[in-house]
This record gives sequence, C-alpha cells and structure tokens, in this order.
Amino acid sequence: MIWAVSARLARPVDLYEYQGKQLFARFGIPVSEGRLAGSPEEARAAAEELGGPAVVKAQVLTGGRGKAGGIKLADTPADAEARAEEILGLDIRGHRVRKLWIEKASEIAKEYYLSLTFDRGEKKPLFMFTTQGGVDIEEIAERDPDAIARLHVDPLVGYQPYQGRWLCFRAGVAEPDEQKQVIALMARLYDAFTGADAMLCEINPLIVTPAAEVKALDSKFTVDDNALFRHPDVAGMRDVEAADPQERLAREKDVTYVKLDGDVGILGNGAGLVMSTLDVIDQVGGSPANFCDLGGGGDAEGVVDALEVITSDAAVKAILFNIFGGITRCDEVARGILEALERMTIEEPIVVRLDGTNAEEGRRLLGEAAPANVHVEETMLSAAERVVDLAGAR
Ligand code: GDP
Ligand code: MN
Repeated sequence: MIWAVSARLARPVDLYEYQGKQLFARFGIPVSEGRLAGSPEEARAAAEELGGPAVVKAQVLTGGRGKAGGIKLADTPADAEARAEEILGLDIRGHRVRKLWIEKASEIAKEYYLSLTFDRGEKKPLFMFTTQGGVDIEEIAERDPDAIARLHVDPLVGYQPYQGRWLCFRAGVAEPDEQKQVIALMARLYDAFTGADAMLCEINPLIVTPAAEVKALDSKFTVDDNALFRHPDVAGMRDVEAADPQERLAREKDVTYVKLDGDVGILGNGAGLVMSTLDVIDQVGGSPANFCDLGGGGDAEGVVDALEVITSDAAVKAILFNIFGGITRCDEVARGILEALERMTIEEPIVVRLDGTNAEEGRRLLGEAAPANVHVEETMLSAAERVVDLAGAR
C-alpha cells in the first residue's frame, strides 16, 4: 500500500481576546467576567449586568490596543456607553473595531508577562515569564533581556511543577501564595496550549490584584489551522470577515494559499517543492506574489480553484506551475491544466515545468493543445528565468 502524504504548511489563526479568555476559562485559568457588545447600548447593558466599574476593550486581531486608545475604564454604565461610542469604529493599525469586550474592572497591584509558544528550533514548547509585564515583550527583551525567564518543556514528559518553581524563582516571584497560584496557572496554560493545538498562548499582563489574586487580564491565543479539524468549536471562532479577501477565497475553496509581495504567482504540488520554487524565483532575481500548494491533486477542479485564487491577486503578472510527478502523473496534471484553461480565461503568461512520472507525455499534451500564453519548460531553473522575464515584460 502506498500512502500519499501531502505536507501542508501550518497557518496561524489568531483568536480575539475574548475567545482566548473563553478557552482560558475552560482550562481553569482565572479571568474576569465579561460580555460581548456590538453597540454603545449593548455596552451599557453589559456594564449594568456586571455591576461596578467595567473596562471597555476593543476586540481586534492586533496588540497595543491600550496605547491606541482601544481600552478604557468606565465607572458607571453611562460611562461604558460613552467609552464604547468612542472606541467602536476606531482604526487600530488597520483593524476597524466592530466588537467590544466589556469586562469587570480589576484592581492591579502587579503586572507580569507569561507566554507559551512553540520553539521550532528546539522542537519544544517554550515558557517565557517575567515580572516586568504590561509592556511589549520585545521591549523588555531589548531593555532587559535578563529579566525574562525562559524554559523549554519536554513534550513527551509534559509540564512539571518544579519547572514552574524554577520560572518563579528565576523571575523573582517571592511571595509563596503568589508562587502557588502562578505555578498552578502555568500547568493550566500548558494544558490549554496542547489541548487546543496552539502556536502561542500569551498573557500580558498577568496580574496580581491587591487581594493577592493572580489572573489573566489579556489573552493572545493563536492556533494552528492544520489542527482545527480536531477542534470544531475553535474552528468556529475564526473570523472569516477579518481575513484578507484572497485568503478567504482560498479557504472557501480549500486551497493552501499564502500571500507574498512580488509579482509571480506560484503553483506547485507539495509544500517542499513549493518552498524550493520560491528559492529559485529569488535566485533568478524575481519575487513571488503568492503561492498555492495543489498537494497530491492536479485534477481540473483543483487547478481551476488554485488559478482562481492566484489570479484574484492583482499583483500577479505571470504564473509558474511547478509540478513534479510522483504518484500524481504529469500527463494527468497537463490534462487538468488544459481543461482548466478551457473553463476559464487567464490573461497572464503561464510557464509550466513538468518533471517526473510521464513528464514527456504531459509536455507533449500541453505543446499540442495549450493556448498561446502557456510556455513549457523542462527544468525548474529555466522555468523560473522564463516566468521572471515574462513578469518583468508586463
Ligand atoms: P493591549 O494593549 O492590546 O495589550 O491590551 P490589554 O488587555 O493588555 O490592556 C492594556 C492595559 O490596560 C493593561 O496593561 C492594563 O494596564 C490596562 N487594563 C486592562 N484591563 C484593566 C482593568 O481591568 N483594570 C485596570 N486598572 N487596568 C486595566
Ligand atoms: Mn496586553
């Protein structure tokens, strides 16, 4: 039995703060009670329900909301309504505020930073913890790198309480009761990270209240879209509206697509081949506009979908098909391309490089029947040179 393995690149999916906090709560991480609001009236009603002072928080998929005026305290429900009026519609670094999270205001004695991310180099989850929270971690890393305690967790063993004790000691958390809460919270963060197949779980700030209660005041939760099939609830949280239009189209058509900033559209079969195609385009002085991975497929349906996504990007001036026939045969892919080009008209020049199983037959088919804008090349290098030339000429 032969298994066709199609490698797919991990695509990070960012969740909103309130969604991350929902997941935190599910895993037992303390968070404040809150409500979602889409209008000033809803913000007022939410603050009334919560009772007491509230904080009105812009829900956008970017950080630094506080500095941008997207986080405001409100003493009364009328205040919450007024703050909501100010924040809704605000543009925070290109992200329009359409939703607010109204949360019971917390009193803050200390602001810490805690995150868990995946360190690809070490192939292990990495904890970062510092008592200098509230500001960007990049800022702390620059100003006082020694203040950040770092610790890798062996994924086969999992998080161990002694690691939490070490992180607390290293970061300088001295209060025993506080240590106890932080160490327990780290265990829950590790559970949330692995349980949701996250790529990043960041709490900044992780606060200590004057009553010595430790809790997550903010959340940055990024999940791996390759694992979303295992978490239908998390998949449902993904905000399709906020995505880039091409990426949205790609998702609808189930095409692996990544936007870049050059002018050559790239289609290949298999993540490894696509990655090396990007390198070769770069090597010959070109620059990719985007890429699509056809995976194991190459049928007309898949080619049409991928071409639709690629050409919906106005920056694309020429397209390179790089196909290595293994289990997928080149003649099949050639037929797929021909059928796709019968169904749709592509203005841009298309360079096709076919190699591997039945490559000659594939090239013959294209040579005989393809429209005039299709150019067949035998090697990856010559194909890259050709497509970069053609893109430059337009
Ligand atoms: P970010 O700016 O996007 O990272 O948003 P945060 O959720 O981290 O909030 C920014 C800052 O607002 C925090 O660092 C706190 O100083 C402040 N803040 C947020 N929530 C509260 C709250 O409940 N009470 C108080 N006093 N300050 C808060
Ligand atoms: Mn924050």
